[in-house]
Order: sequence, then C-alpha cells, then structure tokens
Amino acid sequence: MCLAIFDKNYKLLFVVTENILKIAIAGAGVAGSYLGCLLSNIGHDVTIFEASKKENHWPVCAWGASYHMLSRFSTKAGLNFDNYVLHIGKVLKMDLPNNVTEYLDLRGLVTYDKRRWEQDMLAGAKIEYGTQCLRSTFPSFKFDIVIDCTGFHRTLLPKSHEDFIIPAYEYLVENIEAPEEFYVIGYKGARGYFWYFPLDKEKAYIGAGDIDRKYYGIQDFFQNNPKSKIVKKIGRPIRLAPPRRMEPFSAGNIVGVGESIGCVFPMLGEGIIPSLLCCDLFIETLEDRSVPSFDEYRKKVLRKFSYYDDVYRIVRLKMENRLNMVRHLNLIMSMYINMKMEEKRFGFEINFSKMKRLVNAL
Ligand SMILES: Cc1cc2nc3c(=O)[nH]c(=O)nc-3n(C[C@H](O)[C@H](O)[C@H](O)COP(=O)(O)OP(=O)(O)OC[C@H]3O[C@@H](n4cnc5c(N)ncnc54)[C@H](O)[C@@H]3O)c2cc1C
Repeated sequence: MCLAIFDKNYKLLFVVTENILKIAIAGAGVAGSYLGCLLSNIGHDVTIFEASKKENHWPVCAWGASYHMLSRFSTKAGLNFDNYVLHIGKVLKMDLPNNVTEYLDLRGLVTYDKRRWEQDMLAGAKIEYGTQCLRSTFPSFKFDIVIDCTGFHRTLLPKSHEDFIIPAYEYLVENIEAPEEFYVIGYKGARGYFWYFPLDKEKAYIGAGDIDRKYYGIQDFFQNNPKSKIVKKIGRPIRLAPPRRMEPFSAGNIVGVGESIGCVFPMLGEGIIPSLLCCDLFIETLEDRSVPSFDEYRKKVLRKFSYYDDVYRIVRLKMENRLNMVRHLNLIMSMYINMKMEEKRFGFEINFSKMKRLVNAL
C-alpha cells in the first residue's frame, strides 16, 4: 500500500510506502541515479555504491537523447529538464557507404548535461563513491534487494552466453569550427558509426563505435579542425545484445536494470532512454506488490523490449552480410512499425523509404 502526498497545485511531493525495503544500487549512472532518486522518494532505504571517486565520475556517453522523454523522466524526479539542455538538433546528416547521404529531420533530439543531471538526481541520496562492487564480496545479504546498475559491466549478475558488445571511444572537444549540427558516418555492414554530437559553446563529442576498431572519421575530424582542442578522451564498449539475450535478469536478491540487462537500442547503441524505461518498469513492479516479483519484472522487460531482438537480428545479419530485404522483410517491418509508434521517444523522423535506403546503403 502506498500513500501519495501532493502540494496544493497537485504536484506529487512524495509517496509513503508501508513496506520499506532496504535497497542497494550498484552503479550511479543514468539508471542508478534515477532509480536512487525515485526509490528514495517513495520512502525506501536506498544506498548507492559507485566505483568512481566523486571528482572523477563522468558519464561515458555522447549525451544525446529525446527531449520529450527526458522531460517526462525529469519531471517525475522533480527536475526541470530545460535546465540541462545543451543543443537542440534540427537535422541529422548521415554519410553512408557508396557516397550516399541522407538527412533526417530531428524532432526532439538534444544533447544535455548528463553529468549535472545525474548529480542532481543524486542530490538527496545516500551514496558511497569509490566503492567497486564485486559479486564475490558484495554483502548482498544485508539488503532486501540489490540492483545491478553497473551498465556494460553487469558486475553482480552471471554472464550471458549471448552477450554482444561493440568497442567505442570518444573525445570531448572544444574550440570547434565544424558544422553545428548532429552528424554521423555509417560504416559498411552496420559495423559501427562515427558521431559528431554538438554540445554548447563550440564543444562537441566526437567518437565512434566500431566492431573492427578502425574508428574511421575521427582522424579526419582532427585534420579538418586543426584548432580544436581535446578536453577529455573516454570510452568503453557498448552492449548491443538486447534483453532477450541478456538473461538471467536476476540471481537471488540481485536484479539488473538498464544496460546491464541489454536495454540499449541495437541499431544505434543508444541506451539512455531504454535504461530509464527499464527503471520505470522496475518501479512499477515494486509498487504493484508489497513483495517485489522479479518474474513479473522479467516479463514486463521482455514484452517492452521484444522488438529490440528483431533490430538486433538486422544488425547481426548486416554485419555478416546475410541480410536479404525480401527474406527478412518481417524484421524490417517490425523495426519500422515499432519505431514509428515510438517516434517521440527517438527524437527524429521515422520514415520507411529513408529507413529502407539506409539499411540498403549500409
Ligand atoms: C562512447 C559512448 C557513447 C554513448 N552515447 C550515447 C548517446 O549519445 N545516447 C544514448 O542514449 N546512449 C549512449 N550511449 C549508451 C549509454 O550511455 C548507456 O547505454 C547508458 O548510460 C546505460 O545506463 P546505465 O545506467 O545502465 O549504465 P551506465 O550509465 O554505464 O552507468 C554504470 C555505472 O556503474 C558504475 N560501475 C561500473 N562497475 C561498477 C562496480 N563494480 N561497482 C560500482 N559501480 C560500478 C560506473 O562507473 C557507472 O557510473 C553511449 C555509450 C558509450 C560507451
């Protein structure tokens, strides 16, 4: 049972739950910070353990996501997303193999200050920085629930035999004279892509994810922008295997949320919104029952992200040069229909002809 407390304008202040749980969250990334904030607000006794030291904690990410969705998640946590937006995209230019160029209208794709957003999420939370959780030593028995939000690392859960990751790194660059809009170069065989994501004040993230580790585009960028200055180089692999291939989601009282269980859109390596959607599914399951059901949560995640498996199959078939537009039309249609239904969640136009041209060109 929950009791919701509103202010006089009907804004939700907090919810008091009868069943207070002692919860540990490993990892203070996007999922860990959002969950930490919301679960504490509900009244649970939450402690977050983050491997990095506070001063070094930096979200390894290009900070691009849909304005509409992040506004929604921010409001739930009591933040105003407008305070974090760095760049509002208008158009995305995509250079594809064989000299094909496509332009996508952007409908809400922004970059935002993800670091400050996560810090503000954690403002009232109990957090221990500089604590590297390990499966062998973490005192899980001291908590009712332990949530693995370690993202790509998936530290507290057993490995999945179907895991698939792509190496990636990026530079935070300033003093840029380059184009001010979002720009990507798609690699042949969907084996990765180069990105240029504008931030504010002549800053941008430039980086690449590439299964072949050639990272085409990065060197050219620096040659064409000799005055640009590197502020930071960061990187880690991105998980492309979707939830269906990342079971188990739980082991004993440990449960995974976010990228740790494959909540990343496989075509783009985009995991902010999927991880936050996954958090909401977890909270929903917790609110529905006094005792959390990991099985119910598992079913919800598999249902919500079921089409990610079709998208993942397209990516893998492309990588293996085995995608046939006729034989695999069912997969293409599944990707198109599901993305179209969630157009706002992506922040760019979903257009069937462009999608077909893009898949063909790669
Ligand atoms: C280079 C790059 C660029 C990307 N760009 C985008 C983008 O523009 N848009 C987008 O939507 N997605 C992007 N992604 C993907 C996205 O960043 C992730 O999918 C998303 O952040 C996952 O959220 P998470 O909370 O599950 O994990 P993370 O955000 O990765 O957080 C995991 C946290 O756990 C901590 N941790 C790890 N191991 C331990 C441990 N043993 N004990 C304690 N703490 C631990 C880490 O330090 C980290 O703080 C990018 C990824 C990379 C690598």
